[in-house]
Amino acid sequence: MTYFAPDLTIEPLLMKVIDHIQQAKNTLISFEILPPLKGKSINSIFDHLDPLIEFNPSFINVTYHRSEQVFKKKADGSFEKVEVRKRPGTVAICAAIMNHYKVDTVPHLICGGFSKRETEDALIDLNFLGIDNVLVLRGDAHKNESNFEPEPDGHAYAIDLLRQVDNLNHGIYLEEDIRDGSKTHFCIGVAGYPEKHFEAPNLQTDMSFLKAKVETGADYIVTQMFFDNKKYFSFVQECREAGINVPIIPGLKPITSKKQLSVIPRTFHVDIPTELSAEIMKCKTDADVEKVGTEWLVEQSKELKNEGVPVLHYYTLGKPKVIRNVMLAVL
Ligand code: FAD
Repeated sequence: MTYFAPDLTIEPLLMKVIDHIQQAKNTLISFEILPPLKGKSINSIFDHLDPLIEFNPSFINVTYHRSEQVFKKKADGSFEKVEVRKRPGTVAICAAIMNHYKVDTVPHLICGGFSKRETEDALIDLNFLGIDNVLVLRGDAHKNESNFEPEPDGHAYAIDLLRQVDNLNHGIYLEEDIRDGSKTHFCIGVAGYPEKHFEAPNLQTDMSFLKAKVETGADYIVTQMFFDNKKYFSFVQECREAGINVPIIPGLKPITSKKQLSVIPRTFHVDIPTELSAEIMKCKTDADVEKVGTEWLVEQSKELKNEGVPVLHYYTLGKPKVIRNVMLAVL
């Protein structure tokens, strides 16, 4: 009997986001996806990316979702609090995408719900898989908590997690008795907020923490979504004035339903420009909204591209066809 061993090796692409940017002659494209809900197969990721891959994304980000606390009813009628991870698999999805499409991936890493040791293990897994990029984030508070609470042996801010990744890049592991530890080579991205992070008292304070992340080793910044390019341009200018000189990648998202007019500001703490909200309010169906949202995103993308932004980074969030239409109009 002939035994065909499955090819489990992932051809390491070993291209860092910063190298993609530095070697590019034109604005690059990247996409961000969510892991599927538990119970779905990896094919749902491929179904999502298939319509987009022809646009040659330089890299694909995969978000990380901490577990949620839910109350489950027990047989005796009482409730117990359990932790449920609804969207597991970020590291494995990155490996699967690299294997399937030969495209670089950027797993998101968060502080929330992780001890430093678990983070170190995840970084070692990524390093062994040949994944050399990470986007380092704090994560948000649990849905039923008002403030972000780090794990007892976890990180409180993205900068602390960044320091851990940077240490590993210098061969410094948590176990002090590891000497001459193998050095990792992570290219590190961090989040920036053109309209201010919602917990920051003001933009200047937020900016000083962003600068600290860059001084600690962040190679580039990806912004929170925005719908008014002026906010991005003035953020970039303020960053430059503050001495932040790394590439700043604009994060872009289409509006596709009327309810997003309130959900997006509530969830992401960003404004929707009057001109856009007025057009959306006139729409009779979500199909009409999708058309307006697509046109808006096309215009945003064209202007950003003309201004020479390093990358157009699209939050695809279940809307690959919309992003595909934007790509067809922009590229
Ligand atoms: P931080 O940089 O730690 O900042 C958080 C707040 O603390 C800010 O108000 C900042 O001003 C302040 N601050 C920073 N450092 C200090 C300090 N030393 N002392 C006091 N205050 C400080 N969430 C997920 O759960 N999964 C994801 O995959 C994910 N992907 C994202 C991708 C992008 C591009 C963006 C923009 C956000 C993403 N988020 C994700 C959301 C993110 O986790 C939240 O916005 C979170 O509230 C803040 O994360 P951060 O990394 O910006 O935190």
